[in-house]
Amino acid sequence: MTKMSRRTSSSDLHEKIRDLAVKLAPELTAIRRDLHRHPELAWTEFRTAAIVAQRLEELGFEVLTGPEVCSPEHRLGVPDDETLEQAHRRALDAGTSPERLAAMRGGYTGVVGILDTGRPGPVVALRVDIDALPIEEAGEEEHRPAQEGFSSAHRGLMHACGHDAHTAMGLGVAQILAHLKEELSGTVKLVFQPGEEGGRGALPMAHSGIVDDVDHFLGVHIGMGVPSGVIHPAVTGFLASRKLDVSFSGRAAHAGAGPQEGRNALLAAAHATTALYGISRSSAGDTRVNVGTLHAGSGRNVIADSATMLVEVRGAADEVTEYMASRARKVIEGAALAQEVDVEIVAAGSTTVMSCDEQLVRTVEETWRQAGLTVEPEPHRVTGSEDCSVLMSRVQQRGGAATYVAVGSDLPTGHHTRTFDVDEGVLAPGAQALAIALVRLLN
Ligand SMILES: [Zn+2]
Ligand SMILES: [Zn+2]
Repeated sequence: MTKMSRRTSSSDLHEKIRDLAVKLAPELTAIRRDLHRHPELAWTEFRTAAIVAQRLEELGFEVLTGPEVCSPEHRLGVPDDETLEQAHRRALDAGTSPERLAAMRGGYTGVVGILDTGRPGPVVALRVDIDALPIEEAGEEEHRPAQEGFSSAHRGLMHACGHDAHTAMGLGVAQILAHLKEELSGTVKLVFQPGEEGGRGALPMAHSGIVDDVDHFLGVHIGMGVPSGVIHPAVTGFLASRKLDVSFSGRAAHAGAGPQEGRNALLAAAHATTALYGISRSSAGDTRVNVGTLHAGSGRNVIADSATMLVEVRGAADEVTEYMASRARKVIEGAALAQEVDVEIVAAGSTTVMSCDEQLVRTVEETWRQAGLTVEPEPHRVTGSEDCSVLMSRVQQRGGAATYVAVGSDLPTGHHTRTFDVDEGVLAPGAQALAIALVRLLN
């Protein structure tokens, strides 16, 4: 094949992808709205995962779910059995197929779709996240989901980060690639990851080995301050993080008649809290620490025998994050020791620092430019954390390349707020951009 004809064929493909995306736009909005109406938290994304699995199968993908794609011993922050069971029943009541749900029992809500073209070539993967947040959605008229009747049907839960849009775009990419299968070579893996919020889902998916053979890996997020119509081939600034669930258990006693008989869990938690904020800064990089919740005690005149805290630390490098996590453990254990109470510290989430591979970033950027898309070449600077980093470093450790791209969307308010909403006009162009990048990396 000459250089000339290859160029012609890639622009033909770009055109085909654009036409497919344009046709898909109403369907992607419908999928996004349906998912928005049915938000599900980490490890309870039963209905969402079943919809994804069903759709991928219809499109001719090989579909993997269950412990095969989510290593059981690496799952973090899994809810208790009752919560899982309730969510399972809710999905069943919503009409989800019992067979599909059976394969996900216990919260194995990760889904991987594999499209093998049958022709030799690289393995290319796209990861999207599918979970929602514990936020009560706004009911005000100005909030479009409320106005147009697709706001959350589940009290206290909401898609407030745009993962409903990610899932819809991922399914859009699946449709486009399935359609173009005969013109592609190599293998596509679409990874639909549960439990991104809190950094819980990527680690077990990475440990399942599902991305170990991946040559080129893309992660994606919508919004993040990038306006509609603009895409970035890379993102920078995500902090590594460790989430710790802490429970102190002491001994209750009468606060007036025998306080010395008690072992005060509340006091241990209070001391631990102030001491955590006093962990020495590190010259190895930026750090964060936060005690997000503290619940303790049972009554005014009782020495508190229990206390629980949700704690997180973050860092600009993996080394300094490890330092923060290990100092935090010492501080918490020290506070427990001083009050003679027991303490249990459970790792509830983990993300690493993210690094995007320069060569891959440039390839994606150039391909998008050739396709006539509006690209900002500079990495988009963000704050916060994103556990896609864990899957990316798994790929990178095995010689593959990875990047995390930003699909712009005008937002009425920031991520994780009760009035969050996405610009649905970017769903089809987003799927188009992702498909164009994947096709380029395959061929
Ligand atoms: Zn989020
Ligand atoms: Zn998010």
